[in-house]
Amino acid sequence: MIYRFISHNYSFKLREEDRQVPKEQAFTVGGKTLQLSNLAKIYYPESGFTKGHMIDYYVKISEVLLPHLKDRALTLKRYPDGVEAPFFYEKECPSHHPEWMETVTVPGRHNDVNHCVITDVAGLVWVANLGSIELHTSLSRVGDRASPTMMVFDLDPGAPAGLLQCLEVAFKLKEVFDQFGLEVFPKVSGGKGLHLYVPLNTPASYDDTKAFAHAVAQLLEKTNKDLVTSTMRKDARVGKILVDWSQNDEHKTTVCVYSLRARPRPTVSAPVTWDELKRARKKGSVVSLLLEGDTVVKRVEKSGDLFAALSTLEQTLPKLH
Ligand code: ATP
Ligand code: MN
Repeated sequence: MIYRFISHNYSFKLREEDRQVPKEQAFTVGGKTLQLSNLAKIYYPESGFTKGHMIDYYVKISEVLLPHLKDRALTLKRYPDGVEAPFFYEKECPSHHPEWMETVTVPGRHNDVNHCVITDVAGLVWVANLGSIELHTSLSRVGDRASPTMMVFDLDPGAPAGLLQCLEVAFKLKEVFDQFGLEVFPKVSGGKGLHLYVPLNTPASYDDTKAFAHAVAQLLEKTNKDLVTSTMRKDARVGKILVDWSQNDEHKTTVCVYSLRARPRPTVSAPVTWDELKRARKKGSVVSLLLEGDTVVKRVEKSGDLFAALSTLEQTLPKLH
C-alpha cells in the first residue's frame, strides 16, 4: 500500500487559485515537522508542474523509492527555480540540515564530503524542498564503499540515434547476459537513454565491474560496428549508442530509480519490463516509455517495485579470461 506514509488529511495537490501565491506549509511525517516553501512555484513551465507537485510525487513514490536511497551516499541535483533555470550538483549535505538527517563522510579526491543519506519520508521531503528535482546515488552502500552492489550500463544515444536504437543495443546486451545466466533489469533514464542494471549483492570490486562492463561494451562494439561504440569521445557516438561502462566507478553516481528528471516534462527514471521494451521495438515507437510521475505512481500501485531485485538478487560475475 503505497500511501501508507501519508497522513489522511494531507495532500499537496494545489487548487488553481493556490498557484497565484507562494505558499508556506507545515508537513509532519514520522513525528518530524518540516516547513515547506514556495509550493506553488512552477518547476516545469511547459507542463505547469509545480514544486508542490514534485514533493507530492516523492511522498507518493516513497515506499518503493526509499529502499533504493537507504544506505547510499546521495548527490542532489538542485533546480531551485525549476527546470529552465540554473541548476547545480550538490554532494555535500547542506549544513543547515535537520539534526535527525543521516550523513556519511566520504573521502573525496580533494576534501572529505558529508553526503546526505535518506532513510525516511521526512528526509526525502527535506531534500525535495531544497529543489532537488533529481536524486543521484552511488552503486555501493555506505558501509562498504569499495563494493558495488550492482553493475550498470548507461546507454547514451548520439543523434540522430535515439531511444529506439538504445532498445536494439539493450536486447543484444541481454543476449550476452542470458548466456551467462545473469538477469538484467532495464529502466528508462527519464532523459534520452536507457540504463541496464545487473544486481550483484555478492563480493565485487569496482575494478571487477568496470573491467567486465568494458569487456561487454567492446564485444558489442565489435559485433555491431554500425550501432555501438564503447569509446567515450563525443564524435564516436554520432548515429550510434555509446555503451558507457565507465559509470562503474566509486566516484560516480547514476540517477536513482524513481527520481524525477529535469526535462521539459516531469519524466521519471522508471523501471520497465523487457516485454514493454519488446513491444516498443516492434511498434517502432518509444512514446510508451516516456513515463511521467503520476503514471509511475499508478504503475507501482499495480505492479509493485520492478526494481526490488536490485537490493536482493545475488549474482556473481563470471571471471574474465
Ligand atoms: P541520459 O539518458 O539523458 O543520458 P543520464 O542520467 O544517463 O540521462 P548522463 O549524462 O548519461 O545522464 O550521465 C549518467 C549519470 O552520470 C547521471 O545520471 C549522473 O548521475 C551522472 N552525472 C552526469 N553528469 C554529471 C556531473 N556533471 N556531475 C555529477 N554527476 C554527473
Ligand atoms: Mn546516459
